[in-house]
Amino acid sequence: TKEADEDETPIRWFRINTIKVASPEKVFETNELLKNLQPVNSIDDIKDTGFIYHDEYIPNLYGIHPREKLTSTQAYIKGEVIIQDRASCFPGYILNQDSGDIHTEVIDACAAPGNKTTHSASFLPEDRSSVVYAFERDSKRVKILKTMCEKATGKSKKELIQITHADFTTTRPDDFPNVTGFVVDPSCSGSGIFGRALEDSQKEEEKQQEIDTTRLNKLAGFQFKIVKHALLFPSARKLVYSTCSIHPHENERVVVDLLTDPEIKSRGWHLEDRSKVIPNWERRGWKEEFTSIAGGDNEMCEKLAGGCVRSIPKEDGGIGFFAACFVRDNEKTQLED
Ligand code: SAM
Repeated sequence: TKEADEDETPIRWFRINTIKVASPEKVFETNELLKNLQPVNSIDDIKDTGFIYHDEYIPNLYGIHPREKLTSTQAYIKGEVIIQDRASCFPGYILNQDSGDIHTEVIDACAAPGNKTTHSASFLPEDRSSVVYAFERDSKRVKILKTMCEKATGKSKKELIQITHADFTTTRPDDFPNVTGFVVDPSCSGSGIFGRALEDSQKEEEKQQEIDTTRLNKLAGFQFKIVKHALLFPSARKLVYSTCSIHPHENERVVVDLLTDPEIKSRGWHLEDRSKVIPNWERRGWKEEFTSIAGGDNEMCEKLAGGCVRSIPKEDGGIGFFAACFVRDNEKTQLED
C-alpha cells in the first residue's frame, strides 16, 4: 500500500525537536533554508516554496511547501527538526497539554516508527527518572524505532526512551506502577492516508463496503483489546487513543465500547473535557456516534464528541486522523493506589 507521497502532501509539517535544541530560534538562526522563509498566517498561503507557517495548535510545529529541501539541511540530518504530520502530533500534545498534570513515566503501546514516542518524550520533565516506555511487536519495525529514537535523543539523553520488542498486551500492568500517561496508536485501516483512501475509492464500491465492514470490525476488536489493556494499569490517569482512519468503526465506536465496558467504567474512566483537548481545533468527534450512551441528550453527545478530535485528509492540511482523550476520576486513581 502506498504511503502519502510528496506530490500529494499539501503541507510538509516539521517540529523542532526540543529534546536536542532549547528553542526554535536556535535552529532558525543557523539554518539557511528556514531563516529565509517568509512567515504566513494560514496554511492556505503556502501555495509555493518560500513560505512558512507557525502552527497555532501544536507548540514548536511549522508547515512549509513539500518541495522545500528540508531533508538536506543539517538541522534535519542532526535530528534537530523532525518531520511529522500535524495531526500525528495531536496525541503527544493532548497527553501533555494540561501543565497542571505532569507525567514523568509514559507508555507508548504501539510505537514504531516512533513519531509519537519521540514527541511524547519531548514533554517529559527534566528529571532523571523521566521515561517513555515504547513497545513494538514487529521485529523489522522495532529496528526503525531504535534508529529514530537514537536520532531524536542523541547519546546523552538516550535513557529518556526505553524500547521493548514485545506485544504490549502481554505486559503486566503491575510491573509499571508509576506510569500515568499513555499513547495508544494501534494498527488501523490507514484510510486517512491519501494513497490508501484513493485506492479504496477506485475499487468496486459495493463489494468493497462488505469487505470493509468485516475488516474494520476485526481491526476495531484488536484496537479495543489493546486500549483496554492500557486502561487497566494501576496508576494510569490519562490515555490518548488514536488512529489514522476516517471510519467511525475504528474511532468513536471503539471509544463507546470502552466507555461502556464494566471493568473500565468501574475504574472511573471517562472522556476529557474539550477545554483540555486542543479546544480551538474545530473538528471534533462525530456526536451522533455517542447517541447510544447519551440517550436523547444532545448536549451530552456534544460533550463526549468534544473529548475527541478529527482531521480530514488534505482538507485539514495533512492526513486523516482521530484522537480521543480518556481521563480517570481522581478518587478512583487514589483508591487503586
Ligand atoms: N505511533 C507510531 C508513530 O507515530 O510513529 C505509529 C504506530 S503504527 C500505526 C502501529 C504500530 O503498532 C505498528 O508498528 C505495529 O507493528 C505495532 N503494533 C501492533 N500491535 C501491537 C501490539 N500488540 N504490541 C506492540 N506493538 C503493536
